Amino acid sequence: YIKARGNVVCLKIKVNIMEHKKQIALVAHDTQKKDLVEWVRKNANKLSKHELICTGTTGKLILEMFEHELPDVKISMRLLKSGPLGGDQQMGAMICDGKIDFLVFLTDPMTPQPHDVDVKALIRVAVIYNIIMACNLTTAEFVINSPLFNSEFKPVVRDFTDYMKRTV
Ligand code: PGA
Repeated sequence: YIKARGNVVCLKIKVNIMEHKKQIALVAHDTQKKDLVEWVRKNANKLSKHELICTGTTGKLILEMFEHELPDVKISMRLLKSGPLGGDQQMGAMICDGKIDFLVFLTDPMTPQPHDVDVKALIRVAVIYNIIMACNLTTAEFVINSPLFNSEFKPVVRDFTDYMKRTV
């Protein structure tokens, strides 16, 4: 544990090692699905070395792409419910349980979403648990091409002990 002191808060952090094989979550809003599928196709060989977790419709489109365009690339995917039907919340729960290392969440900033609260909640838990998160293709591309991507990486994990022990 390292103790970092600021003016207002005292944040305790601990360091865990992220394993070589990562749990990668993929979600895209409808207008972004084509872009995400294309990004997965482009990075199929890299992604196939990891475990994929997808919301229902996004995952279905990705599986179809693999079936039709890259039948020889073997991937391992866990399909959750469709995002608006609880899939975003399932993914958030996995983040809380430490089961996701990297979230690619291509959100649509121009269209109101019926499940806006779930979208915010998913982004919020990703921030709380300090996982790697890309909400646009540039960041996703940057992360997957980082030399750190295929190494053991030590993300900073926030420790909420002080919060849990607060007086209420
Ligand atoms: P979907 O969910 O992949 O099932 O469409 C995406 C989302 O959360 O909007």
